Amino acid sequence: MSTSHDHLLDKYAELIIRAGLNIRKGQQLIMTAPLEAVDLVRRVTHHAYRAGASLVTTLYNDEQTALMRFREGEAEAFDVAPGWLFAGMAEVFKDGSAARLAIIGENPALLAGENPDHVARANRARSRAYKPVIEQITAFSTNWCVVSAATPSHARNVFPDLPEEQALAALWRAIFKCTRADLPDPVAAWEAHNAALHARVKMLNAKRYAALKYKGPGTDFTLGLVDDHVWAGGASMARNGILCNPNIPSEEVFTMPHRERVEGIVRSTKPLSYQGSLIDGISCRFENGRITEGWSEKGNDVFRKMIETDEGAARLGEVALVPHSSPISASGIVFNETLYDENAASHIAVGQAYAQNMENTANMSAEEKLAAGMNTSLIHVDWMIGSGELDVDGIARDGKAEALMRKGEWVA
Ligand code: ZN
Ligand code: ZN
Repeated sequence: MSTSHDHLLDKYAELIIRAGLNIRKGQQLIMTAPLEAVDLVRRVTHHAYRAGASLVTTLYNDEQTALMRFREGEAEAFDVAPGWLFAGMAEVFKDGSAARLAIIGENPALLAGENPDHVARANRARSRAYKPVIEQITAFSTNWCVVSAATPSHARNVFPDLPEEQALAALWRAIFKCTRADLPDPVAAWEAHNAALHARVKMLNAKRYAALKYKGPGTDFTLGLVDDHVWAGGASMARNGILCNPNIPSEEVFTMPHRERVEGIVRSTKPLSYQGSLIDGISCRFENGRITEGWSEKGNDVFRKMIETDEGAARLGEVALVPHSSPISASGIVFNETLYDENAASHIAVGQAYAQNMENTANMSAEEKLAAGMNTSLIHVDWMIGSGELDVDGIARDGKAEALMRKGEWVA
């Protein structure tokens, strides 16, 4: 593509290393990326070594070879996952000596036509084997970041009416805009953005709400927060002492729901991509924090299997507020990718909660965390419930309601 594309790609890569990971001199970097993102991987590697990285290791994903397993692989082998690889990754994340970068951009519908039982078994085996890694990431042991790259299959999925080359260019433009990489000084822009998110976090932490109450089309529910919840958003300090931005872009402030205190009905407002399948039009009823009725208009089989992964998969692990006017929402694009779509709208996530969202978790046993309301699961899947029609109230401990969001925007 053009020189201006190369220039923006380089600024984006520098933003990822400096604001996203804030990589420390002497740290290793472990990066996963789609094969088609090699140009970005090279720019990121360049900036990583310039910032003093000791070793950059990249693991590429290739869609063609991923499909071969489902087309040619032995039926009994779908429970195999590379546990040895994930155990090794978990080790260097645990001591904070390696930073983690995930570049995503896979085709969200890649596995839609494959045997759903094989897909579910492969996902389950992978989730199990990946657990040691997820534990270190959710415990925030090291600096990590997730970013997106435009790939031909994802671009075709987002812009089905454009020729491939134009679709790819349009998706890159959207990525540069939503991540602020197209601004004159992206790193400074992220400092200002983080300051605004941190001010919102401070306000919400001072309120000490007992619950949030939601009203919108198809949504009428109350979501209790754990007593010692901590709101977070923007740059956060990993346990290895490095301040990083785990998601670029990120427009959300988020905290921990109580796993047993969610009541009412909720309807999703955007499609979500789950391990290669598309799920859309989710409706759920929660009782005592658990989904007692739940289905989706699209991808219902995958959705049902997802919430049946384990006990915690039908309970909430995260709640996040995002104004409807966020740059991702303003782009008008449905990315079919959670990293972007979750930053377009307020959302909830079923599954594993983040330890940083409750005080003192480092000193609590697994039983104590569970008793305090922290959810645990092999999965963590965000889905969008925000729109320009959503109202959110904060419920104080004495039961008094305060308007937090009206028609999807912050009240104050
Ligand atoms: Zn979130
Ligand atoms: Zn999430």
